[in-house]
Amino acid sequence: MSSDNQEVRSGFCTHCGHSVDDFSEHDCCPNCGSRSRPCFARDQVTVSINLRELWLVCLWAEQWAMFNRCDVDLLYAIAVRLRKQLPDPALPLTMAEMQQLPEDQRFLFNNEPEFKSGFCIGCSCRVTGPMPRNGCPNCGSVYRPCDDANQVTFSVNTHELRVLLMWAEQWLKCDTGLKALSKLLHAVFDRVADENAKLVMNNDDTIYSISLRLRKQLPDPAPPLTIADEFIALREAGYNIITNHPVADEP
Ligand SMILES: [Zn+2]
Ligand SMILES: [Zn+2]
Repeated sequence: MSSDNQEVRSGFCTHCGHSVDDFSEHDCCPNCGSRSRPCFARDQVTVSINLRELWLVCLWAEQWAMFNRCDVDLLYAIAVRLRKQLPDPALPLTMAEMQQLPEDQRFLFNNEPEFKSGFCIGCSCRVTGPMPRNGCPNCGSVYRPCDDANQVTFSVNTHELRVLLMWAEQWLKCDTGLKALSKLLHAVFDRVADENAKLVMNNDDTIYSISLRLRKQLPDPAPPLTIADEFIALREAGYNIITNHPVADEP
């Protein structure tokens, strides 16, 4: 039994990646002192995600963290672990990484080969080239479709997925005032402002399409990956929730 318990409590520090055999023996990470929730080994999963989805989620989560004084370093630690698994480790996943690159290399998809086939990031419908110019003919999504060539398999912890998706969800669904400020700051400080602003200003359900595609790949029962999922799980468990949280009635 004790080895089972140890199995349950083993994992790695979400901040520094340090492996720990039994987190119950520590009240913080013995390596970096972080008190954030660790990533438990039992929650490590393999998922297939498109680089475009991952990139958008990381950018949205980063905006939320920066403008709400969340622990943005936690996000960067997760992004580094994911980047190490990319086919080209130089691809930037966050604005901070992008801004260290020359302007013509900042965007992940600047030098994308010609689009041949993929799927709509909004409704998952199949799309074959050439790239639709006026959005998805099925759902109207104006995002570029996800190219099949950019589909990547990752090992990731569901705790990391929850941080990324919930922060991205908060950014998309909460507080438009902060988004206006973000747009302004990008316009002032960043010459690629328009492109950045378009990416971070959207207020739509794309995050739920992404989370649904991920949850379908998780072991059953899949843990909630978004705050909207959490509300649904609580209601299904019989709780009557009264809240003014903006995502309480999301799909
Ligand atoms: Zn640590
Ligand atoms: Zn669509």
